[in-house]
Amino acid sequence: MVDRQTTIDQLDELLPLAAQWAAEQERHVLCEGVRLSEIELADAKAIGVRNPERVRLLRVDAVPIPAHPMLRAAAASINFLTAAPRGLALDYGIFIRADHWRDRALIAHELVHTAQFQRLGGILPFLQTYIFQCATVGYQNAPLELEAVATAARVCSA
Ligand SMILES: [Zn+2]
Repeated sequence: MVDRQTTIDQLDELLPLAAQWAAEQERHVLCEGVRLSEIELADAKAIGVRNPERVRLLRVDAVPIPAHPMLRAAAASINFLTAAPRGLALDYGIFIRADHWRDRALIAHELVHTAQFQRLGGILPFLQTYIFQCATVGYQNAPLELEAVATAARVCSA
């Protein structure tokens, strides 16, 4: 079992692998997914997503996890594997678990992550920041997660 410190120590090695995986998954969602609905588009604009018409949602039974052993170990160390996520945003491509399809609050949460990808400069810098935060303060206390929770709640209650 890899611990969080190992994930931090291996970050330079992990990042290119994670970014490649994320880019492949995003391409898959962009090919197979559907556009945002009118409400979701309005939420995306309120959140500050640029080019929200490029976002695609893909309905899946389970959010995919990396096959590469090193990525799997790193994902397990930050509890990504045990969390059974309901959604996953990889830049413009967003996976939504089937039992939460068209869940406005969840999609708003994932759209905040899309805005973060844009703000931070794409897949690599986002993952660098996100993995580091999860490996240091934990997924639930990661500033990027806290921002997604707070912004989604604000947008959906407006
Ligand atoms: Zn999140």
